Amino acid sequence: VLAAELDPCTVHTLWLSYPLNLPSAPLSGGLEWLANDTLYYDTWLSDLYAGRYLESWLPANMPWDTYPLSLGLTLTDAGAPHTLISNAAVDEMGEHDWQLEFPSTMRAMSPLVIVVPSEDVIFVSGTHPSNGQDIPYTLYRHDTVGTGIATLEATLLGSFDQFTLGTGEFLHPSFTGFIGANARSMEYDGAFTTKVPDISHEAFHSWWARGVHPATYADGWIDEAWDMYNTTQGQSFTVEPFNWNDPTAVLYDAHPFARITPLNSYDHGRRVFAGLAALMGVDGLRMAMAELYAAIGLEGALTTAALERHLYCVGGEDPQIRQAFWRFVYGQGGNAPAPDMNYCG
Ligand SMILES: [Zn+2]
Repeated sequence: VLAAELDPCTVHTLWLSYPLNLPSAPLSGGLEWLANDTLYYDTWLSDLYAGRYLESWLPANMPWDTYPLSLGLTLTDAGAPHTLISNAAVDEMGEHDWQLEFPSTMRAMSPLVIVVPSEDVIFVSGTHPSNGQDIPYTLYRHDTVGTGIATLEATLLGSFDQFTLGTGEFLHPSFTGFIGANARSMEYDGAFTTKVPDISHEAFHSWWARGVHPATYADGWIDEAWDMYNTTQGQSFTVEPFNWNDPTAVLYDAHPFARITPLNSYDHGRRVFAGLAALMGVDGLRMAMAELYAAIGLEGALTTAALERHLYCVGGEDPQIRQAFWRFVYGQGGNAPAPDMNYCG
């Protein structure tokens, strides 16, 4: 509690001082003091548990608030050289002294910051021409990974090509990836940390989730479901007609402070898109999603209601599309109410 009365319309600076420690949040992690005075630090964000976005480490707001962040980072008394891995613009001011600038499109779910002993990682970097767009990238591999870095790089760049072709432009200035056997598989704006099998899934999130962001955390089901529909080997771009007798299920939690992406987003959510593909055609659905992606971009954000409206309106105003959301996204029984007269403009 800040027990101070302030005059209205005045500007103040708030100084907070606290030790860097494991966040008091479920399954928090990302801070390990290692042998010989070395350190592994990782922002270790998560959509699956409360308090696990930037608010883990710094004062931060809800997802609809976008703002730039300047972060000075200094490591003192280290027993060995360390490497900084981040999706910020980084200035190295001196040894173990970095200035990080995150862009004004950043939100609490965006920043990746890793500090790791330099001898534990190797990296490869370049610029990849992908369907008419040049994507600069740097990919780090931790020692714990057995796969060669050239193979990992090829997988990543192959994924880029699929996504620039099927979804649209990569929206970030560059891509930064960190692959470790014990890494969290997690998405960031133009970045990921991942285990080897999840490279494609986590890379896709730089288009959907951390390119076009969810407007609220309750809308986080969309990018997991759409990602699974796009990148799950053997299950991508399937057509699976809805069974209207299937039990209702909730993907969108209407609570205004809903924080957690429901776990059924991955499987049930994927099947919702497969059902929509049965109504709209796979190409029709993919084209509709690509239109939405281009229209929203980095500055905007996607709500569940906007997704439903867009798919219904470009999908021939098929009432089954509304019914699919009603039953399998909002978890309601009975029939979806008819939309307003001007619903499709
Ligand atoms: Zn995901």
